[in-house]
Amino acid sequence: MSQAKGYAAQSAETPLAPFAFERRELRPNDVRVDILYCGVCHSDLHTARSEWPGTVYPSVPGHEIVGRVAAVGPEVSGFEVGEIVGVGCMVDSCQHCHACDDGLEQYCENVFTMTYNSPDRVTGENTLGGYADHIVVRQEFVLKIRHGEEQLAAVAPLLCAGITTWSPLRHWKVGPGHKVGIVGIGGLGHMGVKLARALGATVVAFTTSPSKREEALRLGADEVVISRDADEMAAHTGSFDFILNTVAAPHDLDPFVTLLKRDGTLTLVGVPAEPHPSPAVFNLVFGRRSIAGSLIGGIAETQEMLDFCAEHGITADIEMIAMDEIEEAYRRMTASDVKYRFVIDMATLGTAA
Ligand code: NAP
Ligand code: ZN
Repeated sequence: MSQAKGYAAQSAETPLAPFAFERRELRPNDVRVDILYCGVCHSDLHTARSEWPGTVYPSVPGHEIVGRVAAVGPEVSGFEVGEIVGVGCMVDSCQHCHACDDGLEQYCENVFTMTYNSPDRVTGENTLGGYADHIVVRQEFVLKIRHGEEQLAAVAPLLCAGITTWSPLRHWKVGPGHKVGIVGIGGLGHMGVKLARALGATVVAFTTSPSKREEALRLGADEVVISRDADEMAAHTGSFDFILNTVAAPHDLDPFVTLLKRDGTLTLVGVPAEPHPSPAVFNLVFGRRSIAGSLIGGIAETQEMLDFCAEHGITADIEMIAMDEIEEAYRRMTASDVKYRFVIDMATLGTAA
């Protein structure tokens, strides 16, 4: 066992606060990572506040982790002490079902183990995430980081926001000649804009925040539409190959479905606590349009995305916070007031915990 320091929610109503706990002894194929930075995903907030069902308390969120390898088990072959690595939303899966064989561990038929709020496959204990000084993870779920050391804080959000947008963009084969929409310019959405642009698509950003118009262009959007402006929306009717919707709140999907071309797809990655209003079937059947969903991404495609980003100089736009500023960060995230991802500097944990 190793003694860990972190920040936990003790219930849906209590603010996150310092929390001491133990990490497991290294298993033969485990890597111990001392955490340098951890991004703040809206899923952390959904979980800490029990907006989704099933939160086990105490809950230590955090699944956008960058850190340094501190120790390795005797069977670890791919990682060395001192190396910079990443850990994302998964820390284990069955490793032998069809999904795992296909490198899509997030769809593991025996249920993947989330970095936080999942039963550990060996002990059944609730997993605790990256708002902590270190974490222990089996080596198959540790990622190589090839960005420069000065970029590491801005790399952390790639481990969830990056892969969750990359995986659907790749699955639906977004590339040159495609017109792609990204809905909701928050943590996921701003990465969606950058990645769709880097893949060669024409990118339109949809935002409810007029203050993000100029910046969405800077992020790489060719055009920005204020999604609450019916005239701006109507100008794009029937023109999109693919739209990725990252919005964290329930809303009417029909205005986006009508923007799709024949055979176009609206893929949902935002997971609001309450359902969206049911979409109109007319909009789907006239045009053979689809509404789909997508969950994070597999380990191999996460590595592919990290390497692509390192090669193309892509990182997240971040606001760095101290660990004890997490409640204020949650408040601002709920108000769509973050440009575009909060990242916790874990060096601040020592004084906060
Ligand atoms: P975020 O940073 O809070 O961004 C969400 C964006 O949605 C906001 O910035 C805002 O963008 C827009 N928005 C918020 N409320 C809205 C409303 N009432 N109506 C319309 N637009 C609204 O959150 P995130 O971290 O990117 O996460 C987004 C969602 O994806 C969350 O539900 C999260 O749990 C989920 N998620 C899913 C996966 C997956 O695997 N599928 C992985 C990670 C996260 P504008 O200001 O531009 O309108
Ligand atoms: Zn996330």
